[in-house]
Amino acid sequence: MKYKILVTLIFTLIILQSCSKDDDINNVANGINKIGNKQTTGSSANDILSDTKFKSIIIEMVYVEGFEPTANAIDSFKNFISTTCNKPEGITVIKKSIPSLGDTEYTIEEIADIEETNRTKYNNGQQIAIWIFFADGKSDKDDNVTVVLGTAYRNTSFVIFEETVRSFSNSPFEPNRSLLEATVINHEFGHLLGLTNFGTDLQSPHEDPEHPRHCNAASCLMYWEAVSPSGLNGFLNGSSPPQLDAQCIADLRANGGK
Ligand SMILES: [Zn+2]
Ligand SMILES: [Zn+2]
Repeated sequence: MKYKILVTLIFTLIILQSCSKDDDINNVANGINKIGNKQTTGSSANDILSDTKFKSIIIEMVYVEGFEPTANAIDSFKNFISTTCNKPEGITVIKKSIPSLGDTEYTIEEIADIEETNRTKYNNGQQIAIWIFFADGKSDKDDNVTVVLGTAYRNTSFVIFEETVRSFSNSPFEPNRSLLEATVINHEFGHLLGLTNFGTDLQSPHEDPEHPRHCNAASCLMYWEAVSPSGLNGFLNGSSPPQLDAQCIADLRANGGK
C-alpha cells in the first residue's frame, strides 16, 4: 500500500490508427458498417456534441465479471452527457459482462481486440454508439511513478482500468469509488468530445503546453492528472466529479455542444 503515496494517477489518450476505405471489406458485416466507429480520437466530436447527424446516443458498457461500474457513476455520466451533448432523442445505456481473459495487464491493442470481439453497437441511422470497457487488470503503461486510470483510443471508444480505479478508492484518505469512476469516465468521454484542442477547436488558449490535449486549469475535469492520494481527495472534494471549466465549455459550445 505504501507505494501508492508516491504515484501519480493519470488519464491518457492513445491514438490508434484509424481505418481507411481499404478496410471496408473487413468492417462491413451483416449490414453493420464499423468504419464510422474506427476513427481517430476526437474526430467525431461534432457528431457526439451536436444533433446535426445523430439525434440520440447509445453507450455500450462491457465489464469483466465482478468489475461492474457503480450505478452512481453511470448516473453521473448520463448527467454529463445530457449537459454537454444535444441528443434530443435520448441517451441509452446498456451493460453486459464478459468472463475474464485472465490477463493482469493490457496493451491498448489487446483492449482494441476485446472491443472487436465484444462490441455490438455501432453508429446506426441517427444514433451514435460509444463503447466503454471496464478491465480487470492494469495498463501496460503503469510504472512506479504513474498509474493509468483510463485511456481514450478511438473516436467512440475508451477503456477504464477498473481494477486500478478500485485499488485507489474506498480506503481511508482515498476518494469514494463511484466518484473516482465517474471522474475517469467523464474525463475520457471529454477526449471523445475533442477536448482539449483535439477535435474541438480552442476558443481561448488553455491547452497545457506540458500535457498536450489537456486543460491548464487544475480544477477542470480535463486536467491531466489527479494527484494521489491526498491530492486526489482535494481534486475530488465534492459529491460529484470535477466539472469542465468555462474555457472547455466554451470550446464545446462552439462545436455544436450545449
Ligand atoms: Zn486525458
Ligand atoms: Zn478545462
